[in-house]
Amino acid sequence: MRTNLSVEEALEAVLEAAQGELSVEELPLKEAFGRVLAEDLASLVDHPDQDDTAIDGYACRAEDTLGASPEAPVRLRVIGEAPAGRPFPGEVGRGEAVAVYTGAPIPKGADAVVRVEDTRREGEYVLLFAPASPKDIRPKGDDLRRGEVYLRRGDLLTPGRLGLAAAMGHARLKVFRKPRVGILSTGDEVVEPGELLPFGGVYNSNAYSLLGLVLEAGGEPVLLGKVPDDPEAVLARLGEAGPLDLLLTSGGVSMGEYDVVRKVLERHGEVVFWKVRQQPGGPLLFARLGGLPVLGLPGNPVSSMVTFFLYGRPFLFRLLKRTEPPYGRLKARALTPFKGAKGKKVFRRGVLSVAEGTVRSTGNQSSGVLRSMAFGNALVVLPPDQDAREGEEVEVIPLTFVP
Ligand code: AMP
Ligand code: MG
Repeated sequence: MRTNLSVEEALEAVLEAAQGELSVEELPLKEAFGRVLAEDLASLVDHPDQDDTAIDGYACRAEDTLGASPEAPVRLRVIGEAPAGRPFPGEVGRGEAVAVYTGAPIPKGADAVVRVEDTRREGEYVLLFAPASPKDIRPKGDDLRRGEVYLRRGDLLTPGRLGLAAAMGHARLKVFRKPRVGILSTGDEVVEPGELLPFGGVYNSNAYSLLGLVLEAGGEPVLLGKVPDDPEAVLARLGEAGPLDLLLTSGGVSMGEYDVVRKVLERHGEVVFWKVRQQPGGPLLFARLGGLPVLGLPGNPVSSMVTFFLYGRPFLFRLLKRTEPPYGRLKARALTPFKGAKGKKVFRRGVLSVAEGTVRSTGNQSSGVLRSMAFGNALVVLPPDQDAREGEEVEVIPLTFVP
């Protein structure tokens, strides 16, 4: 077992365990939002599928309209119309025009369009107050070219990408099965919300903050409830969990007599590492139980969230072959001081303003104060042995989907 790892060493060890191949399922578009593509997607069509008009107006021959102006309008004969989806069947000749509407194919013979605002209809004729131009013609394939790959395996299906898959002509998408992530809370003092809180008790908040984090990372949370600090109870509950891709436990990985998760994993599994030189989350443990990777998260509510974000989220991204990194990093100016720690990388909670390029502390930075994760939107990263003074530039990890 390794111990006292740096954050980077710990992450490497966790990612090494993200080996499995997730199976693939095929979903109709309407069920694929938020899922991760398991195949590259090439367009089945050109879009537009032929030159079409980007505006409402009149399609005609540019040379017929040269010099058209309010003082010297050009008069063309209107020989028909082409609403979107109903192409004009004929051909535009000299001195002729076809009324076209956005998305309609440019009729044969025409090579330019004049916008309707620069025209006046007079029965069978139209007066042009400006020359027609080809600039509002969208050439065939301007948006999508048939056969070209626009979405890749590992791409998250965002609203824009789901639309793009549809625009490319795909009705069903192959996506990775969601990794199943067990969430088990331990602690004699932990009780479920809704129950009466006994003296010295604490409500099980970790299960629900972790549930949110797992969902956000593309996993399927499997709530395994809470067990007391008793090795038999931990083992029994895990036996009922069904197949999992990752197990998260919270609590019971510190130095104490009652730190049951560590004991169970030492006895029945293989502990890969225990303790990382970071704060919060120092007691983090990573193990294998049978084939199952287990992240033993410390019980403090902030520690469990921060360690999942730093290790569990990258693990799931790796399993899902995500093309985007699990989190971004940026620089911001500290509006408040942030305190570092001796020999440890520190992750303080902050309120980041991307617009202002600033970050301020959420206040009380104790790892028991969950409000810092509820109202903070970023982690301020301090290298070992380093404080940040007010006004200094610091490294920041946004906690949501801010790039
Ligand atoms: P532990 O890691 O077991 O030593 O727990 C550290 C602190 O986190 C203790 O104050 C626990 O009461 C608290 N804690 C442990 N599990 C949970 C949980 N599921 N929800 C909220 N707090 C917890
Ligand atoms: Mg405990």
